[in-house]
Amino acid sequence: MSEFGFRVLKNDRASRARLGRIRTARGAIDTPYLVPVATCASVRALSSEDLLALGAQCALANTYHLALRPGAELIRKFGGLAGFMGFPRPFFTDSGGFQAFSLGAGKAHGVNKLGTIFPGRAEAAGKSPVLAEVTEEGVRFRSVYDGSEHFLDAAGSMRLQSDLGADMIMAFDECTSPLADYEYTKRALERTHRWAEVSLRDHDPRQALYGIVQGGWFRDLREASADFVSSRPFDGIAIGGSLGKSKDDMHEILDWVVPRLDRRPRHLLGIGGIDDLFLCVEKGIDTFDCVTPTRQARRGILYLSPASGGAPANNFRFQLRGARFKTDELPIDPACACSTCRTYSRAYLRHLFLAHELTFFRLATIHNVHFVLDLMARIRRAIREDSLAALRREWLGT
Ligand SMILES: [Zn+2]
Repeated sequence: MSEFGFRVLKNDRASRARLGRIRTARGAIDTPYLVPVATCASVRALSSEDLLALGAQCALANTYHLALRPGAELIRKFGGLAGFMGFPRPFFTDSGGFQAFSLGAGKAHGVNKLGTIFPGRAEAAGKSPVLAEVTEEGVRFRSVYDGSEHFLDAAGSMRLQSDLGADMIMAFDECTSPLADYEYTKRALERTHRWAEVSLRDHDPRQALYGIVQGGWFRDLREASADFVSSRPFDGIAIGGSLGKSKDDMHEILDWVVPRLDRRPRHLLGIGGIDDLFLCVEKGIDTFDCVTPTRQARRGILYLSPASGGAPANNFRFQLRGARFKTDELPIDPACACSTCRTYSRAYLRHLFLAHELTFFRLATIHNVHFVLDLMARIRRAIREDSLAALRREWLGT
């Protein structure tokens, strides 16, 4: 049986925020927490030693990418992700569904992985996508790596996630496009709920299984999905899918869903802007995952705290490329205690960036990851000390 457990240590008085602790066989995760994303068994540019030095409590890896390369079977032989990566902390894996739909369909239409072609839209337009075909059984898709054809269903996703050996896994679901209409979203939701039952039946009992609330931006579907997932014996509950067309929509969706959930841990898939962290914690989310901090770092976009000029207007970040940093002796963020800020100037880091020196990726990523993990630690402290609203005002001004 899974050694998984979750305890709410304190509920915030002024919001739905809660301080909690997830317990796993590989250690505990203090929540709320932004889970660093190790898409291909690596938090890009960082070693597992870097992650440990940053105090990362856990990581989230992508089933789709790892199943295609190097293969889940291989990772199993190394004792799962923790052994393969040399990172002896708890892992989450996603179900692989999201990438199978979005990357498969994107490839089919010749757009990149951030493209806007989704199965729901193709179906709505009366066309079936060529390379990511959703059926009642699962999804047939082409690998983004070599174009080979694959089929993934709920039972297969559970097998792959068992081989990857994460502590917390996700039920297989269909993530619909924000462009999908009500009828398509409803049918997709019914499929997702059937696949949830298969996931419950077939998952490795040593792993904690999160059910996923879908339903797009339709209130009755979101509420029905929240009620369904809550009624089943999942270990945790994830909120997935298109969260509407704007941040306001996302907050509204959380207002529909979260009050219907019980004390099980709640994960919000794929969200992690600085303002989102505050707002979603206050809506009652315990864990998030997001590639934004690491992706931005590699592009020279670095986080800045309010003490150093970070604000909602600049999204708490700046682009280091700017000529005004050419001779800047300050660290990235003078208020930051990360190893990069303790050692290097903006001028030096800007030089590395413009010279395409590989070290830049690591040093910048260390700062951005430290920044968000430190912010989550402050948020937890604020909940403990009944000062979350004050911390939010300090950062967001509202
Ligand atoms: Zn720093």
